[in-house]
Amino acid sequence: MTLPDQVRVVVIGGGVIGCSVAYHLTKLGWRDVLLLERRQLTCGTTWHAAGLLTSLRDTETQTRLAKYSQELYRRLEAETGQATGFIGCGSIQLARTEDKAEEMRRGVAAAGLFGVEAHEISPREVQVRWPLADVNDLKGAFLFPDDGRINPTDVTQALAKGARLGGAQIVENVKVTGFHCDQGRVIGVQTNQGDVRAEYVVNCAGLWAREVGQLAGVAVPLLAAEHYYLISEPIDGVHQLLPILRDPGNSAYIREEAGKLMVGLFEPTARPWGLDGVPEDFCFSDIPPDWDRMSPYIEQAMRRVPRLLETGIKLLFCGPESFTPDHNYLMGEAPELRNFFVAAGFNSLGILSGGGAGLVMAHWIVNGHPPMDVWSVNLRRMHRWQSNPSYLRDRTVETLGIGYQDHWPFRQSLTARGVKKSILHDRMACAGACFGESAGWERPNWFAESGQQPVYQYGWGRQNWFENSAREHRAVRERVGLFEQSSFAKLLVQGPDAERVLNRIANANVAVAVGKVVYTQFLNERGGIEADLTLTRLAADCYLVVTAAFTQTHVEAWLRDHTPPGAFITLTDVTGAYAMLNMQGPNSRGLLQAVTTDDVSHAALPFGTAREINVGYQSLLAVRLTYVGELGYELYVPTPFALPVYDALVEAGANFGLQHCGYHALNSLRSEKAYREWSHDIGPDDDPLSAGLGFTCAWDKPGGFVGREALLARREAGPLQRRLVQFLLKDPEPLLYHHEPIRRDGSVVGFTTSAAYGHTLGGAVAMGYVTLPAGAGDESILSGHYEIQAGAAHHAATASLRPLYDPSNARSRC
Ligand SMILES: Cc1cc2nc3c(=O)[nH]c(=O)nc-3n(C[C@H](O)[C@H](O)[C@H](O)COP(=O)(O)OP(=O)(O)OC[C@H]3O[C@@H](n4cnc5c(N)ncnc54)[C@H](O)[C@@H]3O)c2cc1C
Repeated sequence: MTLPDQVRVVVIGGGVIGCSVAYHLTKLGWRDVLLLERRQLTCGTTWHAAGLLTSLRDTETQTRLAKYSQELYRRLEAETGQATGFIGCGSIQLARTEDKAEEMRRGVAAAGLFGVEAHEISPREVQVRWPLADVNDLKGAFLFPDDGRINPTDVTQALAKGARLGGAQIVENVKVTGFHCDQGRVIGVQTNQGDVRAEYVVNCAGLWAREVGQLAGVAVPLLAAEHYYLISEPIDGVHQLLPILRDPGNSAYIREEAGKLMVGLFEPTARPWGLDGVPEDFCFSDIPPDWDRMSPYIEQAMRRVPRLLETGIKLLFCGPESFTPDHNYLMGEAPELRNFFVAAGFNSLGILSGGGAGLVMAHWIVNGHPPMDVWSVNLRRMHRWQSNPSYLRDRTVETLGIGYQDHWPFRQSLTARGVKKSILHDRMACAGACFGESAGWERPNWFAESGQQPVYQYGWGRQNWFENSAREHRAVRERVGLFEQSSFAKLLVQGPDAERVLNRIANANVAVAVGKVVYTQFLNERGGIEADLTLTRLAADCYLVVTAAFTQTHVEAWLRDHTPPGAFITLTDVTGAYAMLNMQGPNSRGLLQAVTTDDVSHAALPFGTAREINVGYQSLLAVRLTYVGELGYELYVPTPFALPVYDALVEAGANFGLQHCGYHALNSLRSEKAYREWSHDIGPDDDPLSAGLGFTCAWDKPGGFVGREALLARREAGPLQRRLVQFLLKDPEPLLYHHEPIRRDGSVVGFTTSAAYGHTLGGAVAMGYVTLPAGAGDESILSGHYEIQAGAAHHAATASLRPLYDPSNARSRC
């Protein structure tokens, strides 16, 4: 077949994802879609998938995508005439420990929020539904009646057929070999059969997606790993309606396969594959199995169904599947190249998420934004360095097994650590820091006491660092705490047009005097919050933009994408050039004054201002701000000055009760003050009005701001139906994390978006959006009896629209 010269969209890759993207684009009315497959449809990873459709996933986005995929695959056969092999057998997840059972109870409560039906069942009931299973070690079991399985090849062919019926062209045996780009935008593909001009390109090349991305200069951090299942010989009593048995304690799932059993493995230590490239002729191929490596895992998995130990193995299958550094997919527009989209890295969830992934991608391309908040799978949460092959190789060892491990609160990755260390890292280690990782940075999460190991002991109750963090928290409220926050991304926006461009992107007014600090959001056209950050005006033509490390790629791309052509500004990443020490607490001014000859009194350095000060032989930028609700200062110290400045603060700090503090204390402090955290409490689907951040909007500034019109329309539509509310549990014992259902007078009205233990308020504090009937004002929101559901337990809670800690800001503005 001859290739067209020009199309609207080229989709690269004919696996389940590419076919689903093409299908959904046609559903939205785009007929001018060309899918190119280097060999044959499904020949990469899709053909050999086990076809499990399980709906309870780690994140809200993944759960929604899985649920939609199930619904789509149920109706696809009727729509296209192509069988999909759907079997509605349900699934059962087993918990071998009390902790896993607690995790599952919490997960099931959260799943209910998104329409996933699930029930706890007894081990006896498991036995009735699965007579061959050994249930003696079970501490809990959970039934998902709507789960099932499909034939991955058939589903993909059905999606391809649906796409063709909608007008798409699907061409096999054409390999994309390069791209044409112009002024930061992709404008076409090169193939082994000629060039095709295109407005959009979607990289759905599965485990090849990293190489395909490289051809366009786009980082797609994923790597394949060996992935196994075995098929037994036939076993009496095995039938196709046996629910899929998911057995995380044994790193395995078990399902029926034509009268035999299939046992799939998610071993905790995996083996990466294809680091040096994938063989050119890889097509419907597999990997020779390594029996020695897998035997211990196989034996462990078989214990769940002892009959397997006496039955022969017909096949041990190994195929490659791609995994990402955080076990979430990679979707969305590349930060490096406009109109170049990626949908890859499905971490062995590509079939069960494929329908939803195609839906999201199609909306994103056609409408310019995804149909829901998909931050947890957005490619822009990644950083270019994450494509480093050594990093991917080491991290992939851990990621394959993550889905079947315990999902502890505060769990830290074990592999590929130490990517980024602040210059103060060793000082922090000496002070007892237990480090956690964010965007590759090692950051102190809590500080061990002398004689205590700085190591996590995980659990669903109070973990071993609870009292350490409580001490740090109290030091900030009563004396002064020192947070090492060098990981924060620091961007300089410079040039004669800096004020004009930033003032359009930011909702606050940034046309302020030099030395002023502005807290602001960047909004999308729908009024949703894309970033939550501070801008400090350093000069008439220079701003320092500070944002959380994990948002750096997104914020940089947002700034670039919203800079009008011809604007005279530059954007420079100066993150590594400055360390950041954050001193917070009532003694912070006294301490700062003790180490500087500059005046740092309230009059000289009021709240929301910044000035350069000297500390010893060094100089630094002191910014008076707080994210914990106290008097405090962020100190931006040029990296070569950081060690002497830190040493001076610690030495002088002895007289002020200085305490090293970690990110867990920061989270507890900010939760009490109801300071929002982007990606938890606020995000692209939340507007500043619902989030209680309307005060940041400079409604009348000249030129307006992106998102203003959408917000005005919302404001004029009457009282808000959805409001972000702070909650405090009345019982001081229970802990909350996030995604706990919020009940008002017995009915679910929302779920928690973030939570922590409030050591000053004396209980777990959380935030969450409450949705009430139209016309309900603040009084109705606050009236009613609130409960937060943590697993099976319901806890009475106080609700507040104002921060429960220091609502008048008296402590930070003194
Ligand atoms: C053993 C095993 C069991 C699994 N079981 C399940 C399961 O039960 N449930 C589940 O949800 N998932 C499962 N998975 C994962 C699932 O198979 C994958 O997530 C999914 O198939 C990925 O689909 P894809 O379209 O991204 O990739 P692929 O199917 O690999 O498709 C990518 C396509 O791109 C093509 N391509 C590459 N480069 C180019 C180029 N330059 N030009 C043109 N075309 C190109 C390739 O030929 C390939 O066909 C399993 C995986 C394995 C290995």
